[in-house]
Amino acid sequence: MNLNSFNNINNFDNLGLNKRLLKIIYDIGYKVPTDIQIKCIPLFLKGKDILSIAKTGSGKTASFVLPILNNIEFNNNLQVLILSPTRELVIQIFNFFKLFIKYFKKIKIISIYGGQSYNIQFNNLKKKPNIIIATPGRLLDHLNKKTICLYNIKILVIDEADEMLHMGFINDVKNIIKNIKIKHQTALFSATMSLDITKIARNIMNNPEEIILNKDNINLNIIQYFCFINSKFKTNILINFLETEIFNRLIIFVKTKDFSLKLSSLLEKKGYLSSALNGNINQSLREKIIYNFRNGFINILVATDIASRGLDIDNVNLIINYDIPYNICSYIHRIGRTGRADNIGKSILFLENKDLRFLRLINRKFNNNIKRIYVPDFNTLLNVRFNKILHLIKKNFNKNYLLLNFYKNLLNKITNFFNDKKEIQDITLSLLILVYENNFSKISYKDLLKFKNIK
Ligand code: ADP
Ligand code: MG
Repeated sequence: MNLNSFNNINNFDNLGLNKRLLKIIYDIGYKVPTDIQIKCIPLFLKGKDILSIAKTGSGKTASFVLPILNNIEFNNNLQVLILSPTRELVIQIFNFFKLFIKYFKKIKIISIYGGQSYNIQFNNLKKKPNIIIATPGRLLDHLNKKTICLYNIKILVIDEADEMLHMGFINDVKNIIKNIKIKHQTALFSATMSLDITKIARNIMNNPEEIILNKDNINLNIIQYFCFINSKFKTNILINFLETEIFNRLIIFVKTKDFSLKLSSLLEKKGYLSSALNGNINQSLREKIIYNFRNGFINILVATDIASRGLDIDNVNLIINYDIPYNICSYIHRIGRTGRADNIGKSILFLENKDLRFLRLINRKFNNNIKRIYVPDFNTLLNVRFNKILHLIKKNFNKNYLLLNFYKNLLNKITNFFNDKKEIQDITLSLLILVYENNFSKISYKDLLKFKNIK
């Protein structure tokens, strides 16, 4: 249990939320609010402007979704605007609302983001939504076309606020705010926030309450490692780690869009269930990739920084920074895709000698808590391969003692026979894994009798 953010004493009942919402919260399975929810929800309900900084995975989304649903009025007005930097996040927040909306049938909520057809969006807008979740670019297009009117927005939420108030987005955000005509509540959320951006943030708010939890943004649920690698062997080293690390879902962060495609197709050729995710991929495919990743059709995502912010996907328990991030902030967000809520996660950062400065920076940030890990050596790999076959054998023949023992003996004989020739042992083991994964499990005892003489 992550005592850092998940609180045992308080419960949701004391935050000022109405009974109907409380019932839904408990139905959904939340038992106790997180620290940021405890601090933020009462202030949000009172209509205060809020600047809210809390580490990755600490439940910031519910900190605004719950009070919004509590305070929304049942009419045909557009009352709430939520801005978020990526399309994936817009969809994620939209789906988070949907968890609750089924109990609030009267509330209409839509998402607006680039890459989705205008026709779908025009049709959705005709339904007179109360809440819009949007990326800035597409929202501005609608504002210019006069297909969305923000005059009556009462609540503006900016998620990943430091990114949204940074150079790439700030003008768009300011132009959007100009369209809101009435006095409104503004709430900003992020895991990271520099001093410069805090100043900009204060400018777009009215006397905000600043809730800054865990000032260092350190998520203790993430066990961090770094590994010195020789860039010539980088992909091989990655593949060795994929063999030796145990993971449910893994995100590998790389620098460029092109390389994300290359690396992912290489992994696919090796039999891994992997997809690339980058900003050049068309929107419907991007959505499908995230869907596949969430639902276990793939378990490796090779992504650019587009996936570094906000994504909340269950069971991502390993992050590999294949290429070093541009800065500490990006590092915090990348590794923050794991160790979410009260789960534990692991991150590995690949480093070359030239990256020592970056290592020093993050070590300072994380109080020297980043441990060194070494490239898996030959014996480790051998061991992993041996155990993998043993596991496969046990899994398939657990109930069939004859076959189980046959294969176990065969395995022992092979390893003993090649004991002093490790390379050959390794090749044999790798071949066995290949054969085994593809065919062996289908062989019946009858077939096996045909090969009796092997014994
Ligand atoms: P953040 O935006 O702070 O990075 P999220 O809002 O994405 O974090 O929440 C991280 C995860 O924690 C989500 O899967 C969310 O459903 C879960 N979560 C949020 N609040 C609670 C709670 N009070 N109890 C249990 N799980 C929670
Ligand atoms: Mg978030």
